[in-house]
Amino acid sequence: MAGAATTRVFFALWPDTAAASRLHALARQLHARLGGRLMREDTLHATLAFIGDIAPERVADLRVAADAVQAPGFELAFDESGCWRHNHIAYLGMRRIPQALHGLQSDLAARLREAGFRLEARPFSPHITLLRKAECAGMSKEKEKENPATEPVGWSVRDFVLVKSSISANGSRYEQIGRWPLL
Ligand code: ATP
Ligand code: MG
Repeated sequence: MAGAATTRVFFALWPDTAAASRLHALARQLHARLGGRLMREDTLHATLAFIGDIAPERVADLRVAADAVQAPGFELAFDESGCWRHNHIAYLGMRRIPQALHGLQSDLAARLREAGFRLEARPFSPHITLLRKAECAGMSKEKEKENPATEPVGWSVRDFVLVKSSISANGSRYEQIGRWPLL
């Protein structure tokens, strides 16, 4: 259903520039071992709810759903790295999902479903994609978890954003088209 008549969108948590820089440093370290395609620093994010390709008129309904979300800000810390062999994605994840993140994601997801958007049934697995087409064999076993840094890398989450994704010559291009502050 992708095409000129649709808009590809998702909700995400976006790191501040200092966090993005630390995340990218970890990505470069992983890239040295696993190869693949390094995500650009200004594109690093954690997807909160993937909507996919929708009619542009439906974006207004996404905004209404997001307006209704009431959730407090929280600290986010990514404390493990891994590589999914089935899709060759090297990522940062977290051992434990903070309650506040769970609350935000489930509140947003419930409101989106109420508005008729079909979301993934899979359990939420917050992560930041660092590499595509990574050679996961560089990590010894499937989904091996490693400590990516001496300190967890994260940021203070104060808002969430709606992002439009479009295809460009050098991969997906992202444009923030909405931002909602947390309490
Ligand atoms: P590309 O697909 O061009 O390699 P991309 O995956 O970053 O780039 P999108 O496919 O638009 O761009 O995805 C936007 C975000 O949503 C990414 O973080 C991606 O991992 C996530 N995403 C994509 N498809 C799904 C899906 N089916 N379920 C959950 N998250 C998804
Ligand atoms: Mg994709």
